[in-house]
Amino acid sequence: MSTAPTNPLAKSRIAVLGYGSQGRAHALNLRDSGLDVVVGLRPGGPTWQRAEADGFAVVEPANAVRGADLVAVLTPDMVQPTLYREVIEPNIKPGAALLFAHGFNVHFKQITPRTDIDVILVAPKGPGALVRSEYERGRGVPCIWAVHQDVSGHAEAKTKGYADGIGGGRAMIIKTDFKEETETDLFGEQAVLCGGASELVIKGFETLVEAGYQPEIAYYEVMHELKLIVDLFYEGGLKRMLEFVSETAQYGDYVSGPRVVDAGTKARMKEVLTDIQDGTFARNWTAEYAAGLPNYKRLKQADLDHPIEVVGAKLRAQMPWLQPSAVRAEAAPL
Ligand code: NAD
Ligand code: MG
Ligand code: MG
Ligand code: MG
Ligand code: MG
Repeated sequence: MSTAPTNPLAKSRIAVLGYGSQGRAHALNLRDSGLDVVVGLRPGGPTWQRAEADGFAVVEPANAVRGADLVAVLTPDMVQPTLYREVIEPNIKPGAALLFAHGFNVHFKQITPRTDIDVILVAPKGPGALVRSEYERGRGVPCIWAVHQDVSGHAEAKTKGYADGIGGGRAMIIKTDFKEETETDLFGEQAVLCGGASELVIKGFETLVEAGYQPEIAYYEVMHELKLIVDLFYEGGLKRMLEFVSETAQYGDYVSGPRVVDAGTKARMKEVLTDIQDGTFARNWTAEYAAGLPNYKRLKQADLDHPIEVVGAKLRAQMPWLQPSAVRAEAAPL
């Protein structure tokens, strides 16, 4: 299905830098929308062969940037400042657009884009695999979009053209700004999705095991079954979850949930949000990255060594439907 004749990017060359979760999905969808795509990757990098096997012209990032009308930066966030300084800034055409899928580096001034280019954002609300599979079904994943800098006078049209090209226009696109996208993304993954959910599971597991219950039983109750609940949230919110669990589970939810996650928790969520908003988190994280990730590695190892991981590995080996490859295809790096 071609959207190119009406797409504002129909006559543009799009350089996609990075061919991971988002990069591959964007490149394939843009091409199938009739747009002109070149993929920029480091020679010998892990995804070069995959992009070539998908039929793309693959060139070094600097060559992809030269001559491109839109450069989509879809590499990991922490390598983007160096990539910008060494590869994009010296080569991007005046009037071209620089597109991000996450606003971190621009919002926290790790990248200060040249003043003669458009700076825009399109962030699909789903992992790359879903962005691709929905597009192939003739549908799309909703996207949020933003314009940070408009020098061409066409930044908004380019942004919407890109969102259309990856399929978002078939679903819904929502306007945001770099600040809102960045701060809400960080808050979600820290307080609720990755940080909050993992601590809730760990503390629940420890509570049961310390009270003398078997770790195997505790694992099933607090980690394994979480997927059932999350799937119900995803499909139909609190209402669907409440429809599917017993009256006993519902009553326990109403009276005990607010005892565990209470006003104190919410106050600490606000502290986490403040650290994000005032730049404390970004400063700590960029310093940690520059120092070679000492705390990150130590904290990660502590998670990997936790007793819930030991018992979990043993139990999952007995559940052959939990094939890591099948599960990972749907996983969403946040
Ligand atoms: P990823 O880790 O899956 O892929 C990164 C790609 O960049 C790989 O192809 C890697 O080989 C390549 N790469 C690494 N260093 C490079 C360099 N110096 N030069 C050129 N290429 C390099 O990344 P991702 O999860 O697709 O994330 C990309 C961007 O999309 C990030 O800004 C992220 O925040 C954002 N995002 C991701 C998701 C998601 O679900 N994964 C959702 C919304 C936004
Ligand atoms: Mg997010
Ligand atoms: Mg954790
Ligand atoms: Mg139960
Ligand atoms: Mg994130």
